[in-house]
Amino acid sequence: MTYLHIGIDDTDSPRRGCTTYIAALLVEKLTKLDARFIDYPNLIRLNPNVPWKTRGNGALCLRIECNENLVQDVKEVVVAAVEENSDFGNAGTDPGIVFFSGKVVPKEIRNFAKKAIQGVVKLDDALRLVKEFGAEALGYKSGRGLIGALAAVGENLEGDHTYEFIAYRLAKNCGTKRLVDAASVRMMNEVTAPLTFNSIDLKEGRVLITPRGPDPIFFGIRGENPEIVTEAFGMVHAEEPVERWVVFRTNQGTDAHLRRIDVISDMHPFHSVIVRGTVVNAPKIVPLRHVIFSIEYDSALIDCAAYEPTGDLRKATKQLVIGDEIEAYGGVRPASATHPMTINLEKIRVIKLVPKISLHNPKCPVCGKTMSSMGKNQGYRCDKCEHKSKELTKIQTTEKRALEKRLYITSPHSQRHLTKPFPRYGQEKTLDRSHFKMIQEWHSP
Ligand SMILES: [Zn+2]
Repeated sequence: MTYLHIGIDDTDSPRRGCTTYIAALLVEKLTKLDARFIDYPNLIRLNPNVPWKTRGNGALCLRIECNENLVQDVKEVVVAAVEENSDFGNAGTDPGIVFFSGKVVPKEIRNFAKKAIQGVVKLDDALRLVKEFGAEALGYKSGRGLIGALAAVGENLEGDHTYEFIAYRLAKNCGTKRLVDAASVRMMNEVTAPLTFNSIDLKEGRVLITPRGPDPIFFGIRGENPEIVTEAFGMVHAEEPVERWVVFRTNQGTDAHLRRIDVISDMHPFHSVIVRGTVVNAPKIVPLRHVIFSIEYDSALIDCAAYEPTGDLRKATKQLVIGDEIEAYGGVRPASATHPMTINLEKIRVIKLVPKISLHNPKCPVCGKTMSSMGKNQGYRCDKCEHKSKELTKIQTTEKRALEKRLYITSPHSQRHLTKPFPRYGQEKTLDRSHFKMIQEWHSP
């Protein structure tokens, strides 16, 4: 018996395709070939803060066990599926496939995956590892897809992970409005949340399980285990046919991309980071309603930006004042001529709130009306009874802060695939492979 790990990435384009769909097709084809899956297909989201990412930045890995004499057939089936279903005509689509044989994925390839999820990796590094560990790699066009393909092989999801049930559409329906009964999605959410998450934006009542765009995904239900997402699927009334479905195991909703850094020299452009700092420039609202403020971190000044679509997070950041201490979570945008290094915020944790003090003119000791200033150090005068005083000074009041010492996360509709949402806190887990044996159905027949 041979163990084969098959990584695939960068096959789709904004106009068509989806690498998860190729994986779903391969589940059927490889099962027919008599390959045995040793894991759910892994859907690995890579660092969303690199500017050259593919849409959604998701790479796939299929892990199988099969007879030695089947390996060549398996490889041919995989290559044919990728070649038939990739959008080669699209300028930014550079598919990659990696085959790695062996029961255990080497630590070096696992480290490479970690880097591809949290930071920036190079094609040369991928090629070096492919060579060093005797993997087999096919890169089309620029070959850049190899990076994600190798990273998918390397991320075996032994730490925190979630599941996604993905249902696909008939080819003839792709590009049309997705027909799903919203009331049934709300009902499903009520019954299965928080074991499922991000199905509905409760504040806006918006259904989040259906993506937009011409890709073959009908809808996806995210959750903590394969049973709950499959059960949830049964509660959703689809008003168009489901072509096929597969349950994926994934790093979605785990914050796997965010790395806590302790010194400013570890903060590199396009990395996803967590830093703790003190607000030194108050939030200001810039055009397009984005909020920008600065924090001091390791003696450096860093801008933090909460964009309009981040909703709740943007509202929270507006309330920060100088002296507040926060943790900023997000992607690092490099410095430019007009702004310092900036963290595009996904979350903040409020650690310390300073009292917010406001100053008011004193009240008239004679009639009680608020007095007017007569000029700097000139004292106050009452407009009503004309009482004057040089001794009275401004009154300090401590305002109640609208913020709480807690976590604020961007609204569900603008969360990254990797962002850990509120319902997942406390549900983090590590892998228990023995559980896999109990699951009978994880893909359509
Ligand atoms: Zn008065």
